[in-house]
Amino acid sequence: AMRHLPYFCRGEVVKGFGRGSKELGIPTANFSEQVVESFPSDIPTGIYYGWACVGNGDVHKMVLSIGWNPFYKNTKKSVETHIIHTFKEDFYGEILSIAIIGYIRPEKNFDSLDALILAIQEDIEEAKRQLDLPEHLKLKEDNFFHLPGGKIVNN
Ligand code: ADP
Ligand code: MG
Repeated sequence: AMRHLPYFCRGEVVKGFGRGSKELGIPTANFSEQVVESFPSDIPTGIYYGWACVGNGDVHKMVLSIGWNPFYKNTKKSVETHIIHTFKEDFYGEILSIAIIGYIRPEKNFDSLDALILAIQEDIEEAKRQLDLPEHLKLKEDNFFHLPGGKIVNN
């Protein structure tokens, strides 16, 4: 099932379902329905790690959730990226480029908000460790993020 990885993708950041991720300190940048539709249909739901870049900005570590979209009564997937970086401002409407590199775990239900937050913090630590490995670090320098045309250059 992980034969799709690494998976490169880019698209506009849209408004999510207001599940309050930001209030938990873990905002997730949501892709539009069209971008999600373009994903391989058999890519498993769950939590992944990889690299992400907003517009022509720096490439940062990220954790990503591929889950079921409550807005469509869980018949369609949603793809949400939490970038492991503190941004000064929101970036709705900007182009997010991501390289999905590895799988962390399947989706889970949690008994409490604290348990959910703890699990996400562990996901983030796992992503940081994995992405420091040389084989994963090299994807940060991939042409996908760095070639003209591969990015929006505004000078
Ligand atoms: P929504 O339900 O609209 O997706 P969230 O609470 O998940 O709301 O917040 C997501 C938004 O927060 C993103 O679309 C982006 O504009 C902003 N944001 C700020 N910092 C980050 C970050 N580190 N990772 C992801 N999104 C971020
Ligand atoms: Mg979100």
